[in-house]
Amino acid sequence: MTPRPGDGWVDCRCGHRHWGLHGAAGLLLARRGPHPAVVLQHRAEWTHQGGTWGIPGGAREPQESATEGALREAAEEAGIDPSLLRIVGEHVLDHGDWSYTTVLAVLTVPDAEVRPTDAESAEIRWVPLEEVDRRPLHSGFAEAWPLLRPRIEAAIEAES
Ligand SMILES: [Zn+2]
Repeated sequence: MTPRPGDGWVDCRCGHRHWGLHGAAGLLLARRGPHPAVVLQHRAEWTHQGGTWGIPGGAREPQESATEGALREAAEEAGIDPSLLRIVGEHVLDHGDWSYTTVLAVLTVPDAEVRPTDAESAEIRWVPLEEVDRRPLHSGFAEAWPLLRPRIEAAIEAES
């Protein structure tokens, strides 16, 4: 793996260390239809909080917006084509020294294939909304999901 300019740990004032010198961003992509679902990433064992489920994402590069970072990571890790989605909002977790931006998006086509396209994922799949919190979730995503879920549901509703 080639190190990227944004790669590195930040010792945050919250007492934890976070990945991404310029913060991090991830893509929460939803699919409409009778069984709305979101794309989740089963993190490879060697990664931070390996074995848990979260969203495709990672460290932002110095000149990158959160949206650019999230879309780049989603393409790299999950083969998500950015031309097939519409961005509907973002949710920022701001710790002062570090931030994580979840970019919310809805697929503009009925379905799209997603798959692991780099070594950070053990698995990438569409997970029905009601099954998300039955999986062992990455702690940051677990904390945000109760806020993200209603926003994703509203966005799906608006797109239908
Ligand atoms: Zn922090």
